[in-house]
Amino acid sequence: MTHRLFRMYFTNRELEELAMNNVYAHRVADYSSCKNPGDFFICDPDPNEGMTRRLSFLCPCGCGDLCGIKVRNDGKNVDGAWGWNGNEDKPTTTPSIAINGNHWHGYLTDGVFRSC
Ligand SMILES: [Zn+2]
Repeated sequence: MTHRLFRMYFTNRELEELAMNNVYAHRVADYSSCKNPGDFFICDPDPNEGMTRRLSFLCPCGCGDLCGIKVRNDGKNVDGAWGWNGNEDKPTTTPSIAINGNHWHGYLTDGVFRSC
């Protein structure tokens, strides 16, 4: 039943990616454009936040939740922010991302969410 439901929303390739636990991070303009797991957008820099920006994405698991992490484009993993390589199309962040405990846990590397 679940499989048939997913068929309505995902292409064969996307289903394969989900099965392999790899979900491509696809950059979109904003929340209203987020449709598929891994769709993400990066907020403009906030002058009050210094080097920190927010990277928001639809949970790679496919549950539809919008998740977000603070990132720093100097690559430093400080102030509760993830290190980010500054690439806005194929981001790499460190360390791994854990959503709500163990709901989803994995890495965002070169624009691919890989669960672990
Ligand atoms: Zn999820």
